[in-house]
Amino acid sequence: MKVGVIAYQGSFEEHALQLKRAFDALSIQGEIVAVKRPSELSQVDGIIIPGGESTTIGIVAQKLGVLDVLKEKISQGLPVMGTCAGSIMLAKEVTDAKVGKKSQPLLGVMDATVVRNYYGRQRESFEAVLDFSVIGGGKAKVVFIRAPAITKVWGRTKELLSFGESKVMVQEDNMLATTFHPELSGTTAVHEYFLSMIKK
Ligand code: GLN
Repeated sequence: MKVGVIAYQGSFEEHALQLKRAFDALSIQGEIVAVKRPSELSQVDGIIIPGGESTTIGIVAQKLGVLDVLKEKISQGLPVMGTCAGSIMLAKEVTDAKVGKKSQPLLGVMDATVVRNYYGRQRESFEAVLDFSVIGGGKAKVVFIRAPAITKVWGRTKELLSFGESKVMVQEDNMLATTFHPELSGTTAVHEYFLSMIKK
């Protein structure tokens, strides 16, 4: 199984490490591909869009022609996991908590509204304990870094986990989005769950 991670900017390395742990936990012979160009997308069975800065990731992905190819592949069923900035890339509706709607290149494939920088200044970054039993894991500490919030889902998008008033992990068929950073957590539950989506 080959899993791609978009590797322009942000937590590529951490996702690669967490993926390795998840491969080991599930005894999968896996390979990780750093994806920067459209040709690298043709080899992967699933793709991760990491956290970072969604404006930067979107602009570079568009420039290199990855955005359109990725959008097409996701609509054809390629499993995708977007974490933090990656969840922003996936959502059909994106606003910023401070500046409201701003245009930025996005995939816009998931029936969800995501509000960027939702938690404001005091809580720009914080840790929380989430219970991952819904995807077969246990309780684990995760980190939110200038995190967005998923405030609304519709259509086939289902909430898997919430924190406070907002949703922090949602799924629409082959698409999984988290507003926290599962790659910076002690649990591999989210990555293992994503690998199970690829195996189906
Ligand atoms: N605030 C970033 C954005 O809007 C996301 C932060 C992150 O990915 N850690 O793109």
